[in-house]
Amino acid sequence: MYRFFVPEENVREQEIRITGDDVNHIKNVLRMKAGEKVVVSCGQGMDYYCIIEDIQERVIVLRVRETEPAVTELPARIVLFQALPKLDKMELVIQKAIELGAAEVVPVRTRRCVVKLDAKKEEKKLARWRAIAESAAKQSGRGFIPEVHSVMDFRDALEYAGQLDVIMIPYELCGTAAESGETIREAAGQQSIGIFIGPEGGFERSEIELASDHGAVPVSLGKRILRTETAGLAVLSVLMFLIEWRNGRGMLPG
Ligand code: SAH
Repeated sequence: MYRFFVPEENVREQEIRITGDDVNHIKNVLRMKAGEKVVVSCGQGMDYYCIIEDIQERVIVLRVRETEPAVTELPARIVLFQALPKLDKMELVIQKAIELGAAEVVPVRTRRCVVKLDAKKEEKKLARWRAIAESAAKQSGRGFIPEVHSVMDFRDALEYAGQLDVIMIPYELCGTAAESGETIREAAGQQSIGIFIGPEGGFERSEIELASDHGAVPVSLGKRILRTETAGLAVLSVLMFLIEWRNGRGMLPG
């Protein structure tokens, strides 16, 4: 079933109105007709199962059939802190992180980031990243559109992460994945989890030390060096699986 996000004020008890770009999309791209089913979310964790009632010039009117808590959300808030990668890689990271269940993505400026974004460029990028977040949320059936934050400096990002139950910082020069497995397993038992991924050139040791001072735990992702765009997705995949397991069985594996 196709999913659409609407602002909260478009939702009345029995009727929802779709406005904006989605109207054209529904009419002319999907060519949907009255009587077809859609699911709507206004980002508050509820899913509205609706029937298209009326297709007008600028508004699609839906009748609400059932309202249920969004079933697709992980019961944990995962925040991915991704150091600015080169080229368009952030777009890929955002799209995949949202498919895998991340609640927020924070682009982070670190020492070895090569990309320099001035205010104007950053604004343009952010608009694009947020559009990608919205379409990934729709495609993967998320209950809300995960937030893509403005770019933060590493130190500010660590401070923001201070509110989370656990912070992990994958670092290729620390221990082994076998040792880190337990850290990741325990993280999956928490309500909120932050993951810091370095840029192509990695983190500097001083950054790892600063992160540790802020409570972040360095983890290894195995003996191979993963590209920056792979590393976050690898952690997210494992966390998503463990959290779903915990959710289904009431406990973590092992
Ligand atoms: N410049 C480094 C690699 C950086 S990889 C080098 O060539 O040696 C980019 C980021 O991905 C790293 O900062 C880290 O956060 C993560 N990463 C990649 N491979 C990893 C691994 N095996 N263990 C832990 N983190 C890893």
